[in-house]
Amino acid sequence: MSAIRIMVVEDERIVALHLRQQLLKLGYDVVFIASSGEQVLRQIGNLRPDVVLMDIHIEGDLDGIETVARLPAELHIPVIYLTAYSEEAILARARATKPFGFLLKPFSERELHATIQMALERRKVEEALRDSEEHLTLALDAAGMGAWEVDAQSRRIVRAGHIERVFGCAGQGFGGSLDRFLDHVVEDDRVVLARAYERLLSETAPLQVEFRGIRPDGTVRWLRAQGKAIPPRAERPQRIIGVLQDVSDHKAAEDRQRQALTVFEATRDGLLILDPLLRVVTVNPGYCAITGFDEAELLGRRPRMLEAGAQPADLHDEIMEALKEGGRWRGEIAARNRAGEVLPLLMNIAAVRSEHDSVVHYVAAFTDLTAIRAAEERLQHLAHYDPLTDLPNRLLAADRLDHAMERCRRDRTSLAVLFVDLDYFKRINDTLGHSVGDVVLKTVAQHMRGAVRAEDTVARLGGDEFMVILEQADHPDDIAAVAMKIRAAVTRPLTVNGRELATSASIGISLFPGDGQTREVLIQAADTAMYAAKETGRNGYAFYTREMTERVFQAVASDSDVRRALAADELVLFYQPQISLDSGEVEGVEALIRWNHPERGLVGPAEIIPAAERGGFIIDIGDWVVAQACRQIRQWQAAGLASLRVAVNASAQQMRNGRLLRAVQDALAETGISPDMLEIEITESMLQNEDECIATLHALKQLGVTLAIDDFGTGYSCLSSLKSLPIQRLKIDRAFIEGIPEDLNDVAIAEAIVAMAHRLRLSVVAEGVETEAHMEFLRAVGCEGVQGFFHARPMPAEEVAAFITGRAVPPG
Ligand code: C2E
Ligand code: MG
Ligand code: MG
Repeated sequence: MSAIRIMVVEDERIVALHLRQQLLKLGYDVVFIASSGEQVLRQIGNLRPDVVLMDIHIEGDLDGIETVARLPAELHIPVIYLTAYSEEAILARARATKPFGFLLKPFSERELHATIQMALERRKVEEALRDSEEHLTLALDAAGMGAWEVDAQSRRIVRAGHIERVFGCAGQGFGGSLDRFLDHVVEDDRVVLARAYERLLSETAPLQVEFRGIRPDGTVRWLRAQGKAIPPRAERPQRIIGVLQDVSDHKAAEDRQRQALTVFEATRDGLLILDPLLRVVTVNPGYCAITGFDEAELLGRRPRMLEAGAQPADLHDEIMEALKEGGRWRGEIAARNRAGEVLPLLMNIAAVRSEHDSVVHYVAAFTDLTAIRAAEERLQHLAHYDPLTDLPNRLLAADRLDHAMERCRRDRTSLAVLFVDLDYFKRINDTLGHSVGDVVLKTVAQHMRGAVRAEDTVARLGGDEFMVILEQADHPDDIAAVAMKIRAAVTRPLTVNGRELATSASIGISLFPGDGQTREVLIQAADTAMYAAKETGRNGYAFYTREMTERVFQAVASDSDVRRALAADELVLFYQPQISLDSGEVEGVEALIRWNHPERGLVGPAEIIPAAERGGFIIDIGDWVVAQACRQIRQWQAAGLASLRVAVNASAQQMRNGRLLRAVQDALAETGISPDMLEIEITESMLQNEDECIATLHALKQLGVTLAIDDFGTGYSCLSSLKSLPIQRLKIDRAFIEGIPEDLNDVAIAEAIVAMAHRLRLSVVAEGVETEAHMEFLRAVGCEGVQGFFHARPMPAEEVAAFITGRAVPPG
């Protein structure tokens, strides 16, 4: 152990040397003898003696006490004053510098030694104290804490160590009192803090409280104070000692964790936390809800969809490879729920790595795509299916036809395209309303679907147009049989709102590959054949022939063509005789419109009426027909045909707005003919629920005009409703005459119509009478009148008189 190093400050040379002698003898090492304060201050830093022996009265500007006061504090060098004076004033000054000893000259060698030893001892204790204080400071530092101490009695903060680090200002900033400190606490938290303090006073257990402090710069931080009461000891009163810590970051992390936990618990997505071997560690309620498994069934196991074999092999490999390489994968997988149903899931899986970069967990999120898939399918369905009938729409039909044609080319087979158009649908829609029309379409669609094989396509192209694709249709006979089956299905009576309705269909058929090589040509050909079927078809269907196209090509009159024809006076009325079966005489004629086309010759109503309805001038045509018919009646009366009744056809639109009534009134007024010479034909479907139409009928009846129901049997067949209507005549549609006498169905219907009409006191005219057989049957059932090619086709007005006179040959 090296000798204690001592600096001597003494300006009297002899005294200094003597002192040195003494010290050396006592075993000390004298490192320097200074004679002035300035010398001391210059050397002290380099020499760092263990003790300074300081004479108070020394030469120079600084005396011993002042010199000591200026020693650098951090050196902590013990000073022992040596002086010959002991005045109170000097002692007081000396005390203020906290000396380690005070020796009054003269002193003995033993006194000197003892004083030096005690100073050294005290230095050791102070060093240890400093050490432990530093230790505490460093520890608080490391913990980011400040220390505080409150005097329980005075509530003063007696100590506040490193609080500035926590609080942004030193303890003095709070004015030194606990109550002032509360001013720096967010108001809501003051009570909490105050209450915690009160508890500390009464309990010995340590306590911790968290509160929000407001720093001098205004920022709010979460603080945690921990404290413990130290009971009063000897002369020391009770104290509360503790630490203060800024826990804002910790709090924020806690908040984030709480939020994450809430999300984890509340989200509808499924979340799994897996261990590195993909075994379930944690599962959220969302996952259980999606898959139907409960937590207990999942924990500790690898989810089924991540096992080999649950996905297609290449997908499974892809997922595992991606997890190994980049630690994440995202995509759609197929899982099975607890019930074994397949669930489309979007999986997003990612590795969670430790700071050493090893995978500690995987987090997997699952979104149930079932609803999205269903919505997609619904959209697909909407795009490809007709919402009303749920049949494929035009788009899907086109696609199916393309594929079917492809197969035919490959297999060298044929297919048939059937274009099906409902015959009386427009009238049903016009007169019974769209909701009834919709029900009819829906039902007819079902019936049609039932009439073909499952692999055949029945599509709705729009309106009342349907298309049927028949594959493997190599024999025209088979196709015709299907066409008849379809027609029969369409004709099946159906009940809407308790009322029986019936419709029928015209079917055009084209064949692949014979009638066309492309979809467009095939459909066009079937469409053309359908028009032919409507006009002439015996059974309501027609196969396409090339000459149909030629005919149809010229026969497309546009709306404006017909409008122009009306203005240019190109429209004429033809008249078809109606013969009384009783007398054999012509009792009336039906006026049927024709267009005297300058190039095409005579054009029929099938082209005129739809164009006029589309173009919105059907009412103008109706006015013209009524006026023209009445003028014709007057002419015939003038020519001696006094009792020739003329029937005109009315359309639904005319019945609705009073135009027909006005037209009839005007025409009667203009021509002065007797109203009972005029007959108005309406179709039965116009009557349904049409108050305006029924009012028109009553008004017409009032005028004295005769009313007839045309095309009877094709609309709603509710005879009883006719009872209340001012109708005189009923015309059986030629569709029911056609099949007589072979078709027993037709026979039964015609017979029933006549019988019921008679019960309602209506007279009956049969349309489409073409054969002697028809005549025989109609005579037998007691039908009053007949109209048809058997007697006469519609003819120009000029020929009517000749026809009547020609017939007026006495029978026999
Ligand atoms: P409708 O009132 O039932 O007229 C009878 C239709 O049957 C006429 O056709 C007539 O030529 C045809 N017909 C008559 N006897 C026979 C027969 O024995 N066999 C065959 N196969 N057909 C026969 P048309 O002249 O082509 O008229 C068709 C329809 O056009 C009429 O059916 C009627 O609903 C409508 N129509 C004709 N003229 C007018 C009119 O001035 N105004 C309105 N709104 N519609 C009219
Ligand atoms: Mg008619
Ligand atoms: Mg008719």
